[in-house]
Amino acid sequence: VTVKQRFDELKGPCVSLEFFPPKTEPGKRNLLARMERMCALNPLFITVTWAAGGTTAGKTLELATIAQRELNVPVCMHLTCTNMNKDIIDEALKAARDADIRNILALRGDPAIGEEWSPDADTEFKYAVDLVRYIKKNYGDDFCVGVAAYPEGHCEGEADESLQDPMRDLPYLKEKVDAGADFIITQLFYDVDKFLSFEKLVREKVSSDIPMFPGLMPINSHLLFNRAAKLSHASIPQYILDRFPASVQSDDNRVKEIGVEILIEIIEQIHEKTNGRIKAFHFYTLNLERAIAQIVAKSPTLSKILEEEDEADDEWDSDVVLQDVDSLTLDD
Ligand code: FAD
Repeated sequence: VTVKQRFDELKGPCVSLEFFPPKTEPGKRNLLARMERMCALNPLFITVTWAAGGTTAGKTLELATIAQRELNVPVCMHLTCTNMNKDIIDEALKAARDADIRNILALRGDPAIGEEWSPDADTEFKYAVDLVRYIKKNYGDDFCVGVAAYPEGHCEGEADESLQDPMRDLPYLKEKVDAGADFIITQLFYDVDKFLSFEKLVREKVSSDIPMFPGLMPINSHLLFNRAAKLSHASIPQYILDRFPASVQSDDNRVKEIGVEILIEIIEQIHEKTNGRIKAFHFYTLNLERAIAQIVAKSPTLSKILEEEDEADDEWDSDVVLQDVDSLTLDD
């Protein structure tokens, strides 16, 4: 099943979840067990990331294949196209197709550490749009294709953040959609107003109805929060910074609790201010489950997912479902 098909059939709010392939065998086993538990959140789809330059292509393919086979959830495999041999791209697409994976997130990618980066290089793939076109041309309807978008504008590496401007990227996002992209997942953000302005722009200038999934990263520790926001060039509004006075910054449990409250506020605001038009929320899980389980259980909008599960199965009462969700919290 494709992301687009599932989105079109969507009745209420939902989540989707991003995972990255662990390096070790025990890590992989733990993650698979965790992914299985997180299916209690009935995700619309899950995604598996792709490392720069295809350095861990095998691990991405393996995790995506097992997940597609064993979890009853559509898998979307990330695939980058620059600084990568075209053969790796074709191998990856064929392997995904053989594994019944029907969704690809088509990305440009970033240079691997220590590699030179030249967008002017004479290669077939310079931008993500080239990969979207390549997939649509050579694989037809085999894949439903997603693309990335940046509510605060895309920023190149360590480049000057003052150059970040969503308006600059917009024609290129339109190019990706016109080339056949079926859905959009955004970069993580914490500034709801910036996301809302961006969503409005996309609706006006790119597509009035393409499914768009806002990217959210739960706050698991103060250090990780700041690092992830910095790496993603996502601004943190002052009112959020103020929620983490020095006295709580080193208390991971307290930081997580505050983080859950903040994420719920973000979700509720987006849902309300878009009149429910945005109802599917994409979580960058960092392979962690606890915060997300709590966000879903406590968010007035997302907890409907658990109620629906509840109605679907007479033997489950909501307390049992919530206990299930609590049991998700054991490991992290
Ligand atoms: P593009 O859409 O190609 O855009 C890149 C830049 O080029 C933008 O600044 C854009 O404005 C500009 N541009 C585009 N087209 C043109 C043109 N024709 N002429 C001039 N300028 C142009 N990276 C990974 O390595 N692995 C992953 O698994 C991964 N997953 C991600 C998932 C999401 C949801 C997101 C948001 C990002 C992810 N990334 C991942 C990071 C991504 O690879 C980088 O952000 C990369 O720098 C840009 O990729 P893109 O697909 O957005 O590129």
